[in-house]
Amino acid sequence: MKLRAIKPIGWQLGLGLTLLACICAIAIALYNLNARQYMGSNYTSLTAVIVRSQSHAVMFRNALEDFRKRPGDPDVLSRLENLLWRIPQHIDGINFSLQNNQISKSDYHTSLLQLQDVEERMSEMQQQLNEIILDASLENFLDQGQVIENDLALTYSSLEELVHSEAAKQRIVMERLGLAISVLIFMILLLVVGLLISLFRLKHEHHKVMQLSQFDELTKLGNRRYLLSSAESFCKQSQRSGCSLGLILMDIDHFKYVNDTFGHPAGDQILQVFAGLLKDEAREIDVVSRIGGEEFCVLMPDTDVDGAMELAERLRQKVSDLTQQQLGISTSVSMSLGVAIACQNEATFKHLYARADKALYQAKKHGRNRTVVG
Ligand code: GH3
Ligand code: MG
Ligand code: MG
Repeated sequence: MKLRAIKPIGWQLGLGLTLLACICAIAIALYNLNARQYMGSNYTSLTAVIVRSQSHAVMFRNALEDFRKRPGDPDVLSRLENLLWRIPQHIDGINFSLQNNQISKSDYHTSLLQLQDVEERMSEMQQQLNEIILDASLENFLDQGQVIENDLALTYSSLEELVHSEAAKQRIVMERLGLAISVLIFMILLLVVGLLISLFRLKHEHHKVMQLSQFDELTKLGNRRYLLSSAESFCKQSQRSGCSLGLILMDIDHFKYVNDTFGHPAGDQILQVFAGLLKDEAREIDVVSRIGGEEFCVLMPDTDVDGAMELAERLRQKVSDLTQQQLGISTSVSMSLGVAIACQNEATFKHLYARADKALYQAKKHGRNRTVVG
């Protein structure tokens, strides 16, 4: 009953944890897919590019003012020429960086158009600068420059704002991913622990089932199944090595009378005393089992007929010598024994057992409380 209750709990635990870990893994994978946009972006370098470009706008304003004051100064002229060439280069660089950082195009589309417009106007200014050098209108040129510088500063600052907000989103995503990975690791650990518990329980239950199916509850000796599970291999081993294999079958005499006179519990106690005696007298390598109600058996590897007879007689004597106090009833008990030794050409354990059984029958037939070799 207990066995049935525990086993499914072990499986349910394992299954539940596996399911939970799978759900977590799927959720994290989906989140990861969604977060890919933020993962591949390097907003630090993009911010650096924009901040550097913002300084160009300031440099451009200063150059325009210097040009207003000293239009004939070749140094000022060359600074202005240089900026008119450099700023469009930087605008191209920003465009490239924006595309590489996977920010949604719609977010920076307007800024990009403005920058392209600035680029075009700057190239116009380059033309005009050549005309100014050839004495064209200076005021018009400077006004246009100021408007461009204004547009440039505004566009850069809106781009900087955009990149900052994207970087903040990236930070949040990274934090959540870190948390999700921690949860997943925890779930995996939980799953491993759950599976280990299930495995341990299963092994424990398996061991219990084996015990129940091969051992006798009353005497704690092996049962007939236990005997058969090892008997065939013992037989084969004896054939291979040429060592003899002994078998003793035992049956308590008039046990029915004991039960009928002193009661079933008294009979049970005698069976337990009897089993204890067998365990004490047999060797470690002998297979001792209760094969029926009041029938017992000892299988003895590497034992010849003298050795088997010696143990059989010792057991018979010890049983006869059991005191009423040891037995718990006001009578003595005896037993009959059949002994058989496997010869090298003995085919199977079945044959060996049949000979021992026949010998036991002879012992009963000839008056009980005796040992007969078959
Ligand atoms: P024999 O000398 O010919 O062996 O006579 P017997 O009375 O021992 O033989 P029989 O096979 O007629 O009786 C065996 C009895 O063993 C019958 C049954 O009540 C009893 N028995 C079998 N299993 C148990 C058990 O687990 N506990 C108890 N107390 N008695 C059992
Ligand atoms: Mg019997
Ligand atoms: Mg009997």
